[in-house]
Amino acid sequence: MNIILIGPPGAGKGTQAQKLVQSRGMVQLSTGDMLRAAKTSGTEMGKRVAEVMDRGELVTDEIVIGLIEEKLEEGSAGGFIFDGFPRTLAQADALGELLARHDTKLHTVIELVVDDTALVGRIVKRAEEAKAAGQPVRKDDTPEVFDDRLRAYYKQTAPLLGYYHAKGGLKRVDGMASMDEVAAQIAAILDA
Ligand code: AMP
Repeated sequence: MNIILIGPPGAGKGTQAQKLVQSRGMVQLSTGDMLRAAKTSGTEMGKRVAEVMDRGELVTDEIVIGLIEEKLEEGSAGGFIFDGFPRTLAQADALGELLARHDTKLHTVIELVVDDTALVGRIVKRAEEAKAAGQPVRKDDTPEVFDDRLRAYYKQTAPLLGYYHAKGGLKRVDGMASMDEVAAQIAAILDA
């Protein structure tokens, strides 16, 4: 079963994806994580995307589609959770083609519906927690960059909600509920 988790930055996509990895043996494909790994490993691609990411803008479709294509080759018996991908209509089209090429398809697209005003607080908290735990703090987890990330979401990614709604696979969950409650709502959708 392949699913997409979609929602603005700070909606809890990564947290919920992790829960699904643990409970269902699915594989999480987070393009954000892949790009951050490329950044720290200092590859050519990592250097190219670093500034764009730090500004809160989207990197090119070509790069992220290439990353996803590689991971799909590895396969996953439990299915894939796409977290932070696709983020543009071109990426959504490419994903449909890639899945078809692997004789598989999307089961559901789950939107985490959140209150925008709460998001910046979540991001700041995430940065503080990382700092306290001695973990690297994301350069884009600041209130200033967050505004640009949210704008990119509404401009480039939110149109995907209409795209998937029209295809008939969009479900919504209350992303403001507790982590466990959100997980339960997602489980109910996947088990329906
Ligand atoms: P995330 O961890 O999903 O919040 O992603 C962090 C940053 O990585 C984003 O702000 C973008 O700069 C970049 N990024 C992640 N996924 C994508 C994608 N699918 N398309 C374009 N840029 C992406």
